Amino acid sequence: METSPSQSQNKTQTPTGSLAVVGIGPGSPEMLTIAAEKAIKNADIVIGNDFYINQIPHLFTHQKVIKSQMGKEVNRAKQAIALAQDKHVVMVSGGDPGVYGMAGLILEMAERIAPDLKIDIIPGVTAASAGAALLGAPLTNDFAVISLSDLLTPRDVIKKRIRALCTAGIPIVLYNPKSRTRTSLFEDVIDIAREHLAGEIPIGIVKDAYRPDETIIITTLQDVMDVFDSIDMHTVVFIGGEETRMLRRYADARGMFTPRGYHRKYVY
Ligand code: SAH
Repeated sequence: METSPSQSQNKTQTPTGSLAVVGIGPGSPEMLTIAAEKAIKNADIVIGNDFYINQIPHLFTHQKVIKSQMGKEVNRAKQAIALAQDKHVVMVSGGDPGVYGMAGLILEMAERIAPDLKIDIIPGVTAASAGAALLGAPLTNDFAVISLSDLLTPRDVIKKRIRALCTAGIPIVLYNPKSRTRTSLFEDVIDIAREHLAGEIPIGIVKDAYRPDETIIITTLQDVMDVFDSIDMHTVVFIGGEETRMLRRYADARGMFTPRGYHRKYVY
């Protein structure tokens, strides 16, 4: 750290630095916004999980780069706030920093320990939009996003929310669907969905969207467990709502589609 804890917590000194929490999108440099690119290029220090830092090597020239590990979010946030007292710091986050990303933690912490610090949140393309685009248009009407990570939210709460959303019949996007050690929650979610939705409801599985190993699978609620092994922490899963269907665009390609409702009002 370049700033001592006593300096960083001295609330009478106005910080001369700044902190931007920057979303870098799903992975491909083409999916990074111009604002995100500008913020990273103009930073003195870039800090982030090494998986995300490794996606943007082309943006580093003079910046000091600090890689940290997954699971160390609280330390990383503290360190970024301390460094930002007198440097322009960028904290990178995958996708959008406000969707299961670092934006919330940074703001919550800064409210207490650095209320005068200038903080910007720069949005990015989140996995739900990236995956939806690759599948077709499954999120054209109302939808919900749920993380299956039970590290910060108890499983019972996650399941209660899934049940409510399945009852509502809207598409659900599952982030963090399965990890090496957490596999049964995904199975439970599919069981709950089967209680409320028809077996033919499409399920879209997008792994490594806009990254070199991108994989896209469209299956159904009744058959999804056949592809259980292809789901991991780099995957986002789309459970269709009651109106979601397969779209036949070409003879050999299908899409996943939820109507917005135009067909009820217009003839086309
Ligand atoms: N802030 C990120 C989400 C962080 S949670 C965002 O807005 O996208 C991490 C989860 O996001 C992963 O477990 C996975 O479910 C999803 N995810 C992020 N990037 C992805 C990508 N390129 N392809 C597929 N899923 C992705």
